[in-house]
Amino acid sequence: MGKILVVGSSNTDMVIKAPELPRPGETVLGGEFFSFAGGKGANQAVAAAKLGGDVIFLAKVGDDELGKNAIQSFQKLGIDTSLIRSAKGLHSGVALILIDGNGENSISVASGANNSFTLADIDSIDEVLGQTEFVLVQLEIPIPMVEYLVEKCSEKGVKVILNPAPAAKLSLSCLAALNIITPNETEAEMLTGVKVSDEKSAEKAAHVLLESGVENVIITLGAKGSFFLNRVEKGLVPAFSVQALDTTAAGDTFNGALAVALAEGQSLKDSILFANRAASISVTRMGAQDSQPFRHEIIL
Ligand code: ATP
Repeated sequence: MGKILVVGSSNTDMVIKAPELPRPGETVLGGEFFSFAGGKGANQAVAAAKLGGDVIFLAKVGDDELGKNAIQSFQKLGIDTSLIRSAKGLHSGVALILIDGNGENSISVASGANNSFTLADIDSIDEVLGQTEFVLVQLEIPIPMVEYLVEKCSEKGVKVILNPAPAAKLSLSCLAALNIITPNETEAEMLTGVKVSDEKSAEKAAHVLLESGVENVIITLGAKGSFFLNRVEKGLVPAFSVQALDTTAAGDTFNGALAVALAEGQSLKDSILFANRAASISVTRMGAQDSQPFRHEIIL
């Protein structure tokens, strides 16, 4: 089993579940409150660790209790936290998440320490990269740092899975250095200009990304599953049919699970099936990391 290095954000998620999402200027009463550890980087690291991955996490937390608690919770799950830095004078990342009665969400993030990534932080992983099979990264840390990381991995021959979330434009040289990119429908549209809503439009968007030089494109399509495309194969891997309660972190669970299956040497298609299964379980439960399944729960 190869080592997975996750590089990304760590946040504390403050969640309110209410009948409706408020429109601008509106107040919606009647909600329930929950607090969870979150952030796309942390969620993906935790997803991978819960599924049996050998995970090391590079993150920046604040000089505060939220940061200390986050590190402790990662350690309990067996994640190597030796690369996590505490940023003096900054607060840990916080996300405010609103969820409606259909499980749809709306999220606002104060990035805090997540925004303090420097080139030196990325350079500090040189030794670890030598023992890493896959790097898994998202876009909740400064994009120039992500691009620097991808360039470094490419020079060292380490494969990168980039989950381009939240949606943002990326340089062509960054795209061309990726082994795998995993946008959802919105992110795929932002990156390609193609409106994605089904298998056919996903294929069109995936072709644009393939032409940019990405080796493998996987577009996640929510309850429809995941479409993949590379130079030799393509197809839709359907989602598992479940009753969705809260889709927060479905994409994160998918990405963490994908990295684990690939690091175990499973084929791309089998890895996507594994990731669909893990993500389908997470949407049946409330929260981000708490909703993610352990390995023994994955029945294919
Ligand atoms: P989020 O932002 O809510 O974390 P996302 O938009 O990044 O998610 P999606 O494409 O919605 O990602 O979902 C990722 C994967 O999760 C899908 O490919 C699918 O396997 C699974 N999934 C999501 N929603 C459902 C659902 N309602 N039923 C079954 N599986 C689902």
